[in-house]
Formats: sequence, structure tokens, C-alpha cells
Amino acid sequence: MHCLLCQNAVEKGVLSFCGIVMCGECEADLMEMTVEQPEYEQIIRALKVLWQRQFSAALDHRPLESDLT
Ligand SMILES: [Zn+2]
Repeated sequence: MHCLLCQNAVEKGVLSFCGIVMCGECEADLMEMTVEQPEYEQIIRALKVLWQRQFSAALDHRPLESDLT
């Protein structure tokens, strides 16, 4: 598996959720970042896109709320 942020190879079980892994370095970077830093927003946005993809894949048998309006 590869780190979501730096693409370095990551040992299994470092920080993983929904098939996404992050290496210890990037995790530490993220923890040290402040919301004011542009990198922070970029990373959060990238994570959101990935999470949404994971969720819609898991829930593809039923429509999302936004599709029902
Ligand atoms: Zn990394």
C-alpha cells in the first residue's frame, strides 16, 4: 500500500481507514498543520473525495440523499 499524501510505500496497519493509508510522517505533518495553512485544506479536500468515493461504493445499492431532491 502507498501513502495517500506522499505515495511512499507504507507498512500495513500504520494509519488506515476505508482502504486509505497514511504514513507516520504525513500523519505527524497533518497533526502539526494549522487550518490556516493551504496544504491543510488541500489534504482535507483530498481525503473528503476519497471518503465519499468509499462511501458511495459501499452504499451503491441505494441512492444518495442528494439524488432524491
Ligand atoms: Zn506519507
